[in-house]
Amino acid sequence: MDLRTPLSEISRPLKMYAGRLQKLDITTVSDLLFHIPHRYEDFSLISKISQVHPGDVVTVTGTVLEMKNEYTRRSKPIQKATIVDDTGSISVTWFNQPFLTQYIKKNDTVSLSGKVEWFGKTITLLSPSYETVSTNGVTLHTGRLVPIYPETAGVSSKWLRRQIYTLLSQVKFEEYLPTDIREKNNFIDLEKAVQSVHFPQNFEEAQRAKTRLAFDELLMLQMKATKRRKEWEAISDGHAFFLNPFEKQIGTFWEHLPFSLTNSQNQAVHAIFQDIEKTRPMNRLLQGDVGSGKTVVATVAMYLAFLNGFQSVFMAPTEILAQQHYKTVTTLLEPLGVKIELVTGSTKIKSMKSEVRSKNKVRSSKFEIRNSGFDILVGTHAVLYDKVTFNKLGLVVIDEQQRFGVEQRSLIRQKGDHPHVLTMTATPIPRTVALTMYGDLELSYLDEMPKGRRIVRTWLVPKEKRNSAYDWIRKQIKVTDSQAFVICPFIDQSETMQTVKAAAVEYERLRKDIFPDLRLGLLHGKLKPKEKDAVLLEFREKKHDILVATPVVEVGIDIPNATIILIEASERFGLAQLHQLRGRVGRGEKQSFCLLFTETTSDQTIQKLKMLETTHVGAQLAELDLRLRGPGDLYGTLQSGVPQLKIATFSDVALLQKAKRAADTLYPLLKKDPMLKKTFASLQKTSVSPD
Ligand code: ADP
Ligand code: MG
Repeated sequence: MDLRTPLSEISRPLKMYAGRLQKLDITTVSDLLFHIPHRYEDFSLISKISQVHPGDVVTVTGTVLEMKNEYTRRSKPIQKATIVDDTGSISVTWFNQPFLTQYIKKNDTVSLSGKVEWFGKTITLLSPSYETVSTNGVTLHTGRLVPIYPETAGVSSKWLRRQIYTLLSQVKFEEYLPTDIREKNNFIDLEKAVQSVHFPQNFEEAQRAKTRLAFDELLMLQMKATKRRKEWEAISDGHAFFLNPFEKQIGTFWEHLPFSLTNSQNQAVHAIFQDIEKTRPMNRLLQGDVGSGKTVVATVAMYLAFLNGFQSVFMAPTEILAQQHYKTVTTLLEPLGVKIELVTGSTKIKSMKSEVRSKNKVRSSKFEIRNSGFDILVGTHAVLYDKVTFNKLGLVVIDEQQRFGVEQRSLIRQKGDHPHVLTMTATPIPRTVALTMYGDLELSYLDEMPKGRRIVRTWLVPKEKRNSAYDWIRKQIKVTDSQAFVICPFIDQSETMQTVKAAAVEYERLRKDIFPDLRLGLLHGKLKPKEKDAVLLEFREKKHDILVATPVVEVGIDIPNATIILIEASERFGLAQLHQLRGRVGRGEKQSFCLLFTETTSDQTIQKLKMLETTHVGAQLAELDLRLRGPGDLYGTLQSGVPQLKIATFSDVALLQKAKRAADTLYPLLKKDPMLKKTFASLQKTSVSPD
């Protein structure tokens, strides 16, 4: 047996539970051993029976004098026992667990942990955890810090404890961390850490175990990032673009812009120009809040590629975004003699149809693309099709990179010989997270908004004000001639029919009952690309006053006349996600508003949501998410691409740095040390990572 052995091969109970365990993402030995408790019940206070006091949480060990089922006056079954040790006896009561009499029998030696209380006139141990004490005296569920795990239907912490305990005695962990790294950081060894995280002697030991395992988790991520970085750095036959000969043309580009760049845009452009002057291809991530102006930064890079005689491709995750970019890039670059082409799913379908109909006459856009009659190709995933080829692809720009898979990102690169790559995202990734997750990328942050941009005024709307909020929206739309988004509740990660249905129901409700006097549109992910476009186009042309939309649709759409966004069930989102949704408005001259609706009554959640009223910087909100919700929930499920850590937290900067240093030391040793390599390979599965 090793860490990768499927649990179903290990024992009958594990085999029988395989289906349920899968719900917890547990299939292998390592999955189970790295199923980390999220807390411990402190049952470590062991007491003689004569010394227990009401109010204490204690563990007592003794012999069962009596065990029986009884019924209360209301006919509810209760279980009563009397336990004795050498100092006295105590009564024990459980409620509604009639099966207990099969487990706890007269004359058994049992260990019981729970709260001592007055029950009627008797001091009683109420509903304690219990186990019979085995000959070796080891207890798992009582008399110690007892691990509490993430559970699922039919898989209790108690069951997990037993299975993990058994497994631990059968698996060996090889220490792979060199002694000096362990000593320097005061880490306990791996095997001890895995044991202690489940069955610690005390809280300090649990903490030390967690620290060691968190370190390992971060180290794995760092090693992977280091690997990607090294592989990238080894490329030396990319295309160096020249800037000097084209200073004048670039100058003209700036002159034609209707605005001047922000400082951080300037810095990003500068960094990009430096990158692409080298034969080692650029690999840069440009992170900036919605509206911070990433597109123009990418555009000037593509212009420089053009001036150097290279083609660029600009890939966006949705049809609407692709069209928007096509428009922007065309406006900026066509006057400068650049040929820009758009390819999306529907372009292709159209061209295929026309090919069938009149083979010889119609020059389909597919044909043109094959001939590479363009300098810049803007498009959706369609740019990945085999038929799309380039003569001289020098620069790849990927917008909203987290919406593309690793494979797609690498596929587009392969359309050229080591092209430069610029990826962009509006997901506010805290720096610490970025350094871990994207340790192989150079980072540019656009952390200021273009001048004159107004902040989006944001309110958390109390339940009882729902109707007045609707009235206010109606008035606002009529008086200021603006438009509104209504974002329906977030139900499912990928847009299922359930989400779509919910949106459709809300759309009907609003249309009939709330805003019969206004024109409403509905947008969701199950619409065909053409239908989506039609709806958005209509919205852009002010044929709808309100667009009801599901949360997953269309990151980054730019409709300046929309000034109100209403978000339903806002408690289901992370702050950073809400901020991104809010970025759909506030793109024009007019003051914009964000109304957060929630049905929650939790004070904590309300306080959290109120942060949006005062905080308007994505990165800050992301950090807040990190602190408030823990990294597990960091990006909820809306954003993929940022993995969820199991043990470590991205907020532990010191540990992150230690992991980074260790990765720098260990990476070169990997090749030489087969043991290290093997351990890493088997541990890889225990950490979550982007690829
Ligand atoms: P995002 O970073 O969300 O992709 P965009 O590139 O779509 O943002 O830019 C949002 C809007 O801001 C666009 O209309 C763009 O023309 C405008 N913009 C970009 N940079 C500036 C700037 N420095 N000053 C004023 N407006 C700008
Ligand atoms: Mg954008």
